[in-house]
Amino acid sequence: MRRALISGASRGIGAACARALAAAGCRVAVNYFASRDRAEALASEIGGGAYMADVSDRAAVERLYREVGDVDILVVNAGVALQKLFTDTTPEDWRRVFAVNVDGAYNLIEGALPHMIHEKWGRIVIVSSVWGLRGASCEVAYSASKAALIGLTKALAKELGPSGITVNCVAPGVIDTDMNSILTPETMEELREETPICRVGEPSDVAAAVRFLCSEEAAFITGQVLGVDGGFAV
Ligand code: NAP
Repeated sequence: MRRALISGASRGIGAACARALAAAGCRVAVNYFASRDRAEALASEIGGGAYMADVSDRAAVERLYREVGDVDILVVNAGVALQKLFTDTTPEDWRRVFAVNVDGAYNLIEGALPHMIHEKWGRIVIVSSVWGLRGASCEVAYSASKAALIGLTKALAKELGPSGITVNCVAPGVIDTDMNSILTPETMEELREETPICRVGEPSDVAAAVRFLCSEEAAFITGQVLGVDGGFAV
């Protein structure tokens, strides 16, 4: 049985990935930061465990791996958004977005690799964003952090290919989660109209792509950015 760790799996896209990988037969470790009740309920629903760690905190991630143990599959999903004009973005805002979204990816991947390299098998899927490809006004820090994850994906895929480890990323479009609850109904409607498939995405849409990239069948796919956006970025 493959063991999977999903960061930020208490809600939204991460929770859907946890359900999808559990349904595919994995034992899933549900990482959370603040939403303990939701993470524990999900873990008991899918027969996995719930583990608290702020992914931006290197020591906390080291503790997380001591509790979880080795993993074969890592989904780097935990992320924070920031909606502000660039000129209003403080150094603290900038550092927090990069700390969670980019440093968090480093901390998680670094902890997962010794086992994957030893086993010569691993799947790493990173959740970037359509805004990491296109850039979003009033989300410069977020867009830059998500673009960094695309560079990380491509470079790391080259480095880890010889070790039997694939590294891919998904770039979701507009997905109906808490992250978008700050958007007005009018903005959500505009985004829906800009989407060729004529709807916003569901967390399960992203989870289906993640599950595929984590499967045996995806063994020859690495370094890719898979848009899960209903055609939004085309
Ligand atoms: P969400 O509903 O806001 O959930 C965010 C998740 O990240 C929660 O489980 C949260 O855990 C966790 N998290 C936040 N900070 C954390 C930290 N420091 N350490 C550990 N976990 C942390 O967001 P979502 O929409 O599902 O987004 C998931 C990922 O998809 C993010 O990387 C996001 O950038 C990306 N994405 C989302 C969309 C979209 O439209 N929704 C589009 C493109 C990309 P707690 O609640 O336990 O704190």
